[in-house]
Amino acid sequence: MDVVTGRRKTRRIDLGGVPIGGGAPVIVQSMTSSDTRDVVATVEQVLALEEAGCEIIRVAVPDEPAAAAIREIKERIHIPLIADIHFNHRLALLALHAGADAIRINPGNISQEGIRGIAALAKEKRKVIRIGINAGSLEQDILARHGGPTAEALVESALKNLILLEEMGCHALKLSLKSSSVSTTIAAYRAISEKTDYPLHLGVTEAGTLLQAAIKSAIGIGALLYDGIGDTIRVSVTGDPLEEIGVAFGILRALDIRRVGPEIISCPTCGRCEIGLAALVERVEGELKGMKTPLKIALMGCVVNGPGEAAEADIGIAGGRGVGLLFKKGEIVRKIKEEDFVPVLLQEIRKLASADRE
Ligand code: SF4
Repeated sequence: MDVVTGRRKTRRIDLGGVPIGGGAPVIVQSMTSSDTRDVVATVEQVLALEEAGCEIIRVAVPDEPAAAAIREIKERIHIPLIADIHFNHRLALLALHAGADAIRINPGNISQEGIRGIAALAKEKRKVIRIGINAGSLEQDILARHGGPTAEALVESALKNLILLEEMGCHALKLSLKSSSVSTTIAAYRAISEKTDYPLHLGVTEAGTLLQAAIKSAIGIGALLYDGIGDTIRVSVTGDPLEEIGVAFGILRALDIRRVGPEIISCPTCGRCEIGLAALVERVEGELKGMKTPLKIALMGCVVNGPGEAAEADIGIAGGRGVGLLFKKGEIVRKIKEEDFVPVLLQEIRKLASADRE
C-alpha cells in the first residue's frame, strides 16, 4: 500500500514505465556494484535488488563495452535502467542506443557540447535525463564563485544545467544535488525545491558503511521527505547494495510515506523482560526478509507497554515468564509458550499476508 500525503507537487515524468513526481509514490532506487561489462553478475545483482523491492536501477558506464552490455542486461531485468555517465558524453549516446531508460549525467565533468549531444538524443528517444550534481565534482567556475561546494553552489550548477537542457527541448528531467554533508544536502534540496517543480532524486552521497549510511540517510533524506520534498530516493551504502533497499523502505515506512513490508516494533528490553526478545526479533526479521505485505508486528518484552503496543499492531507478542500473550488486531488471541513464539508468529503473519493479497 502506498500512502502519499502532504507531498510537494512536482511535474510528472515517466522513467521506463515508472511514474515519478506529480503525486506518484516515492520510488526506491539503487545502483549495482558489479562490473557492468559482466552481464551475468550485473543481472544477478539487479534481480536480487528487484526481489528486495528496488524499483529503478542505475549502472555505471565507464567504457564502451559497459554501454554495449546494457542491451543484454535490459532484456533480462524487469525494472528501468539508468546509465551513469561521467566524462565521456559518447558513452551516454551508446547507452541510449543500447536501450537505457535514462541517463544520469554529472555536468561537472561533461562539456556543454557533450551535454547538448546527450540532450538531443534523449529528446528524440523520449528518455529521461537526471542532472546529477555532486559536491565532489562541481564546475570550477561555480566552485570558485562560492568558495567551495556549498548548498548555493550545488543549486547554481543544477539550475544552469536545467536551463541548458530545457533550451534543448528536454523536459523529462530530474535533479539530484548530493553532498556527503547532511546539512549541505538538506539546504541544497530545500533551496532547489523552491525554484523548480522538476522531480527530485534524494540521496546523501558517500554515506559510508551500513550504520553510518543509515544514520546519514535517515536524517538527510528523512528530513527532506518530512518536508514533502523528494520523488525518488537512494540510500548509498559502501557494501552490498541490497542493504540500501531495507534502509530506504525503513525511512519511507517511518514517515508513513509508503508502507511496504513488515514493520517490527520491539522494545529495548529491561530488567522486566523474561523472554529472549533480541533473538526472537532477529529470527522473525530474518524469516520475513523480502516480504512486501505492510504489517505492523509488535514484539515486546513484558506486559508493561507490551499489550498497549501490541494492540496497535496487526499482530504482536507481549512476553511474560517463559510465555507470551499473542495479540491480533488488538485482540488477545491466546497465551503461547516461548518455544512456540517463532512458529506461531510466522504462521499467523503468513495468514495475514495471504488475506491481504486476496
Ligand atoms: Fe522493559 Fe517491558 Fe518496556 Fe520492554 S516493554 S522495555 S521489557 S518495561
